[in-house]
Amino acid sequence: MSEAEAGSGLISLASSAPFPWQEALWERLVSAHREDRLAHAYLLAGPPGVGKRAFAQRFAASLLCLEPDARGHPCGHCGGCLLMQAGSHPDFSVLAPESGKTQIPIDAVRELSASLALTAHQAGNRVALIFPAEAMAQSANSLLKTLEEPGAGVILILISDRPLAVLPTLRSRCQRVDCPIPPENEVRGWLVTDRQDSALLARVLALSGGAPLQAQSLLNAETATRLDRLGREGAQVLTGGADPLVIAARWSMEEPPDFMGLWLVRLSEQVARLRVLGHLPESSLLALPTSQIQKALAGADTRDVLMYHTFARQARLWLLQGIANRQGLLESLLVPWSMGLRGFSIRNPLQQEPWWE
Ligand SMILES: [Zn+2]
Repeated sequence: MSEAEAGSGLISLASSAPFPWQEALWERLVSAHREDRLAHAYLLAGPPGVGKRAFAQRFAASLLCLEPDARGHPCGHCGGCLLMQAGSHPDFSVLAPESGKTQIPIDAVRELSASLALTAHQAGNRVALIFPAEAMAQSANSLLKTLEEPGAGVILILISDRPLAVLPTLRSRCQRVDCPIPPENEVRGWLVTDRQDSALLARVLALSGGAPLQAQSLLNAETATRLDRLGREGAQVLTGGADPLVIAARWSMEEPPDFMGLWLVRLSEQVARLRVLGHLPESSLLALPTSQIQKALAGADTRDVLMYHTFARQARLWLLQGIANRQGLLESLLVPWSMGLRGFSIRNPLQQEPWWE
């Protein structure tokens, strides 16, 4: 199950979570449960694409199974498991923003808090998954009482790609569980099962920053073709061979919108590395020799290059949240790119009127 699909209430007990890189964490939490020393609230924190939601769902299923096996995996056939698979377990809730929204509404949080104040229907545990945890800004207060005085068997699992954006009042009441990018050899070992295209694998790992589930979802022929095209068009814009406005219009149609955001963040990161370290990683995103990239960027100073990376990261977030005019935002990234980022830090778009909204 991809993280994107994981928002539905249905829980597949055949999910591959815990993934190999989560085994130690699984063991730790299952032991804590067995020894009756689970915290009442956890914050799973780590970059997107490492399997946090799949893990949390699997762990919730384990907590609600009446007869988990020796390793804590849900049995798949007890009353609790059947209700989980049907998506109708009365002691399990999932709280997430509605599609197209960035915030979890106050009413939904109040409703959850009220339901957690009641007694459990089944085995005793009541589990709620909340993601992304930073989507509780105005609604956080409604959850504080539950976090401070949780009923017996209540376990809240908050999930965040950006833990620093989670309100400190929530963060401080949760036990933080870090879910980092696993070591690259582990990710490669997991990904290379039936696909052996090592060049594509290297490019996809570079694009996903090593996040395994994200890399897996990108590992296909379509990504290869798309990366070739973007690499050519990005190089053309940089060297004056293509109009940045035309390319921005074309890129604004790319689906999902986050793909462009991700690509541009990685591109700006590669350019920053090139400036600081003097070389590009093995799988360069641009279809252009390093010497030509350096020549095109010769007029930019290090601040320009670093500021561009910061802006690309912010732009990606806006694309992800769907709150930006995609074409306008891409223009604001590609026009400076066509000028070799010269003076970008002086005209820093983050400090100007946001014309891309
Ligand atoms: Zn079961």
